[in-house]
Amino acid sequence: MADVHSKKIRSYNMSRIKNKDTSPEILVRKFLFAKGFRYRLNVKDLPGTPDIVLKKYKTIIFVNGCFWHGHKGCKYFVLPKTRTEWWLQKIKDTQKRDKKAEIELNVLGWRVITIWSCELKPKKVEQRLNSLINSLL
Ligand SMILES: [Zn+2]
Repeated sequence: MADVHSKKIRSYNMSRIKNKDTSPEILVRKFLFAKGFRYRLNVKDLPGTPDIVLKKYKTIIFVNGCFWHGHKGCKYFVLPKTRTEWWLQKIKDTQKRDKKAEIELNVLGWRVITIWSCELKPKKVEQRLNSLINSLL
């Protein structure tokens, strides 16, 4: 009984975290679009299925959730107290995939920019997105 309960809570938490992770990406997209940048989304024929591809600038943007991608030193990256080892392994695997995709993209001549969801919190978002634009131009 207890296990069923914790399983329910876990999947609830997971769906919540996942939903949270989609909105920062939309925020970045909307900002870029408003600034006149055009892009492709979730490009499957590139390593790592990049979130945002700016072909004209040979630049790829990944918008990473701090928990799922294990943002080092970030206050939003807190390992759950239960099944800690399992989560740690899962996040390490994600980080490995991220690194591999970045290297492959670099080899193909793409510049890779990672934006962390914590950088898109209300107090930081303006500065982060402006510096993104500056790095593109
Ligand atoms: Zn973070």
